[in-house]
Amino acid sequence: MQDLYEQAPCGFIFTLPDGSFTRVNQTFLDLTGYERHDLVPGARFQDLLTVPSKVFYENQYAPLLRMQGAVKEVAFDLRCKGRPPLPVLMNSVQRLDEGGKPLLVASAIFDARDRRQYERELLAERRKAEQLAAIVAFSSDAILSASPDGDIRSFNRGAERLFGYSGGEIIGRSLRDLLAPAGGEAGWDRLMQELRAGRAVVEDMDGTCKDGDIIEVSTALTPVPGQLREVSGISAVVRDISGRREAERLQQEFLAMASHELRHPVTAIKGYAQLMLRRDIYTERSVETILEQAERLERLIDDLMMAAQIEARRLDLRLVETDLVAEARAAVQQILSTDRPIHLEAVDEPVPVLVDQQRFGQVLTNLLSNAAKYSPAGSEIWVRVARGDGEASIEVSDRGAGIPADALPHLFSRFFRVEATSGGAKGLGLGLYISRQLVEAHGGRIGVESEPGVGSTFTVRLPLRGS
Ligand code: ADP
Repeated sequence: MQDLYEQAPCGFIFTLPDGSFTRVNQTFLDLTGYERHDLVPGARFQDLLTVPSKVFYENQYAPLLRMQGAVKEVAFDLRCKGRPPLPVLMNSVQRLDEGGKPLLVASAIFDARDRRQYERELLAERRKAEQLAAIVAFSSDAILSASPDGDIRSFNRGAERLFGYSGGEIIGRSLRDLLAPAGGEAGWDRLMQELRAGRAVVEDMDGTCKDGDIIEVSTALTPVPGQLREVSGISAVVRDISGRREAERLQQEFLAMASHELRHPVTAIKGYAQLMLRRDIYTERSVETILEQAERLERLIDDLMMAAQIEARRLDLRLVETDLVAEARAAVQQILSTDRPIHLEAVDEPVPVLVDQQRFGQVLTNLLSNAAKYSPAGSEIWVRVARGDGEASIEVSDRGAGIPADALPHLFSRFFRVEATSGGAKGLGLGLYISRQLVEAHGGRIGVESEPGVGSTFTVRLPLRGS
């Protein structure tokens, strides 16, 4: 009987109502590392507790025990001798004397290390599952799950956004209502066969939205294995690729346009050169045309290369301090061959800015040649340089065709052109795109004000040096 008590699978302790030990068994000593004489007589149970446990013991546990006579399965941390604190679960009963006054408290103490560890693991697993669920729920990609036959079981927010259905409307319907692979029903049968065989498939297909719109999507279908490795479901990740497709189409169009644009000056140069050779006449006009066309070719190639550099984010600027008025004058002089008079108006003082002269010169040349290109022969062009509060500005104004208001927001986008007002003038729609990228790389801004039939003003603002 004594052995059973001393070697019980849990610690037994007996204390007076104030917590001081009267008896402890061997299991309790083994658990805590104390010697019997460390505890009996004199030591109090609450003094073996860690601070938070002691606060709980004094404020909750002891009063509850006095009131109820018994308390079950309360978790404490015991400070041990020469070991880290021990998590335990404690059950206590209170014995009363004949007059009903508390006499003794008997407690059983269980090692809770395994249980704590198990609880921690369970909690960690739960957190992991919650995190995964949150990733799926909030993913911007559409993520769906379906039964092995393709009946939709879950539908995340990305899917709601993409297809326009709420989860409630679509759950229970078939994946076939949303997604159409190449080959229609036969295509689905082929996909299902792959999935049943445990193989994942990724394919571009058409998606059908609630409003009937068809979108191009890339769909990854994966079989989900069950416990017996059978296919217990299908997961589908669906991504809208209409933007990518649109970009590919734009690229194709651009290639067609660029080859046409490049071919034109080459044909002209070849034609004039052949004419001169065959007839043996070297007129000034022919040579000028050849030069003009060669320059046009050069500008086109420069633009293409610059756009490629911008796309590859390889714009290295060689910044030097210079006077914006002098930059404007140089750009105007370069373009003087045009038959449109160009007026330069500038403040009397220098306007110091930090620019890469070659690249910034390209911006001004673009704006000036556009002003000439999109305005009638003989109409005037103004260039105004000013300095404001910490800012330098240069304006290029023309009295040309102007730009419709709905085109203004797109004007600085790649390949954008306004065919209706360009009066047949050719271009790749790259000049303003490049100009904006270059100006922004200089820490500046470019903007436009325009009225169809009246003219346009493009303004470039740069930080003023030394302010
Ligand atoms: P590109 O001139 O090669 O077409 P840009 O990027 O320089 O390309 O210009 C884009 C479009 O903006 C032009 O096609 C033209 O329609 C319009 N645009 C640019 N500058 C002017 C201007 N000064 N007046 C009227 N339209 C302009």
